[in-house]
Amino acid sequence: MKEKKGIKRRDFLKLSSAAAITGLAGGIAGGRTAAGDELVSAAVARVGTFPRRTLGPSGREVAVMLGAGDMSPACTEAGIQCGMNYWHKANRWMRSKTPQSILENREAHYCQVTVDRVGGDHYVGRLDEDEHVAYVKKAVEETGLGYFDDMQLHYGFHSVREYQNDRSFVRAFERLKKEGLVRHLCLSQHGYAGRDRVPGGQSAAEVLTEVARDGVFEHAQFIYSYGADPEMDEFIEFAKKKGFGTIAMKTARGIGRMLDDPNFRKNLPADTSPHHALTRWLTTGTGLTAAVIRVRNLEEFAETYSGAGRSLRDQDRKALELMNRTARGTVCRLCTRCQPHCPQNIPIADILRFERYALDDHDWPRARALYGRLHRNAAECIQCETCISHCPQHLPIPRQIARVHQILG
Ligand code: SF4
Ligand code: SF4
Repeated sequence: MKEKKGIKRRDFLKLSSAAAITGLAGGIAGGRTAAGDELVSAAVARVGTFPRRTLGPSGREVAVMLGAGDMSPACTEAGIQCGMNYWHKANRWMRSKTPQSILENREAHYCQVTVDRVGGDHYVGRLDEDEHVAYVKKAVEETGLGYFDDMQLHYGFHSVREYQNDRSFVRAFERLKKEGLVRHLCLSQHGYAGRDRVPGGQSAAEVLTEVARDGVFEHAQFIYSYGADPEMDEFIEFAKKKGFGTIAMKTARGIGRMLDDPNFRKNLPADTSPHHALTRWLTTGTGLTAAVIRVRNLEEFAETYSGAGRSLRDQDRKALELMNRTARGTVCRLCTRCQPHCPQNIPIADILRFERYALDDHDWPRARALYGRLHRNAAECIQCETCISHCPQHLPIPRQIARVHQILG
């Protein structure tokens, strides 16, 4: 990225972070600046207008890139100008402040409240009708949004059995819907197969297939990234036939560490980037409704989202092939297939998810904090190597988690 509409890259980066600090989005902190506005305009000009797709049975048209409540104010403003209209984790605005431009044009946006289990984490916490109702009411009040369009169960159900037998979350939704505080039901789903803390836990694909078949929830977010993923591809195909919305998350697998490697950068084709190629593929080369790709500043916003809705070119295909080759044997795709085979019940996928936060997102405090909270960690690995043969990515799992323990433990 050499130049953007007359703004040099160095200035773009400098002003981009300055714009984020001054709360440029919708005058969040009342600190709009001409330079900040110019930067947003440059990013918007590069990205253009996001195409829209129908999200689930409600027939709502949403931009193919979802925004999030923890995006920087500058990226939020640029997103709105590009037609971003679905906001994941909008309850995060309880902590920051709801963007004024969304409050002023509330009906043009779909805002989602993400609701966690209570009394523990997503493994051992419980679904609790009254507590979920209380939380959503608090979030409605503190964000000033008036209502949430979607109520999302964060981390999803442990198993089909739990989904069928514990209706606490659905009952909470129905109560809130009667009061006009929520409108649609959705979930984000992780995999629980082989987790010792979740007896009877199942994979994300198993749970999602039942949820899509049942039809009470309208759409789901799940971990999905470049490279072969036959189990999730089958689910996406099934969901499409059922009219169930599908949104990919944690999509940028390993890209951060790849970009830190001069050899990888040297082999990248010109006129594309891993994030850009990934966005083109997610939005035109899959059956997904939409995707979430994290961007930290306007530079990343323009580079990444300028691929939205645009088909793959030769250089993008080559970049994706290079990413695939590099990721094979080095980056976990969080499929959890290894998990049931570990005699020590080590949470392998969690450990490698935290590795991603550190090496790809460079969010070391978060990675260290999460690793420190694990009830079992890589130190308990007995090097039996049973897991290795079950990993479709051919990761040297014992060696890899030992390295994570060194850097995060
Ligand atoms: S090598 Fe370590 S992580 Fe893999 S199955 Fe054995 S104990 Fe579990
Ligand atoms: S280590 Fe391999 S099998 Fe285990 S979650 Fe990661 S990619 Fe899947």
